[in-house]
Amino acid sequence: MAEGGHYDIVILGGGSGGYACALRAAELGKRVALIEKDKVGGTCLHRGCIPTKALLHAAEVADSTRESAKFGVRAAFEGIDMPQVLSYQQGVVERLWKGLQSTLASRKIDTIIGDGRLTSPNSVAVGDDVYTGDYVVLATGSVPRSLPGLTLDGQRVISSDEGLALDRVPASAIILGGGVIGVEFASVWRSFGADVTIVEMAPQLLEWSHRMVAMYQFGVTREVEDAAAAAARDFAQFLREYIARRRGDPGERQGPPPGRPDRLREPVRAEGSRPAGHPLPVRQRQLAGVGA
Ligand SMILES: Cc1cc2nc3c(=O)[nH]c(=O)nc-3n(C[C@H](O)[C@H](O)[C@H](O)COP(=O)(O)OP(=O)(O)OC[C@H]3O[C@@H](n4cnc5c(N)ncnc54)[C@H](O)[C@@H]3O)c2cc1C
Repeated sequence: MAEGGHYDIVILGGGSGGYACALRAAELGKRVALIEKDKVGGTCLHRGCIPTKALLHAAEVADSTRESAKFGVRAAFEGIDMPQVLSYQQGVVERLWKGLQSTLASRKIDTIIGDGRLTSPNSVAVGDDVYTGDYVVLATGSVPRSLPGLTLDGQRVISSDEGLALDRVPASAIILGGGVIGVEFASVWRSFGADVTIVEMAPQLLEWSHRMVAMYQFGVTREVEDAAAAAARDFAQFLREYIARRRGDPGERQGPPPGRPDRLREPVRAEGSRPAGHPLPVRQRQLAGVGA
């Protein structure tokens, strides 16, 4: 492990953003330091895309087994062995994690495991070691967030992090947020036999994914920007009502607009993420000058 030094590029955060940047920079012949406080691969590999896809695959197997007679296959669905599902999931993650570590090493990228602090526009400290770079890339990602007044207790009110590690199938679950992640969890738990309700404030599930597809396909249009602003206003209203209800203040409860369903329900699982804290209280515009 390197103990400080100068690099062409110092990258803080070894998630998909950070390691992809490291691999590309190395390919271009740059000397790269990749600083990660946990495990390279970040959210996607350890708490996101990969473990959810492993769960979805197990869920698909459960569904196929239930419906096997339709395909002329005789099989009986007996139930879900959650510890075994988790062991399968962990096996997939471990294999990819090992592969990623050896790819980084083979490209001569110095991976430093430690909590990095941006100490100046071109330096990152890990403990007493200082890594300076012609460029510093901030790729510290995000962490799950809750709604104001709703505390994630890791037991009954959980984020996707705990949901992925749950060693039992919940009898019932309310999923707050009908975006991609919420719908994936709903699908998995339903296939595993849970009674699932999704709470979504947008007019339809996967609302933002549909808009994103539209943006990619047709470019960002004024119409889409207006729709995004309207959705943000709706969400602010939803939050005001939600907080009022949590405080037991029915006076502020306005209910849904005419003709819209009432989506304010008691959530059991909170959804979404917020940026992981940056080590310096710098503003976004300043960061653009240091990162790439
Ligand atoms: C449940 C779930 C399912 C998802 N499924 C999909 C999917 O199917 N497809 C898809 O495209 N996306 C999916 N995502 C989103 C995807 O995981 C993220 O978009 C992606 O991980 C973002 O990458 P990143 O590098 O920006 O951040 P992260 O992956 O969060 O990586 C940031 C890294 O920085 C490290 N770090 C933070 N602070 C410091 C510090 N001070 N010092 C050192 N290291 C630090 C963290 O430990 C972390 O490893 C999913 C997310 C979740 C939560």
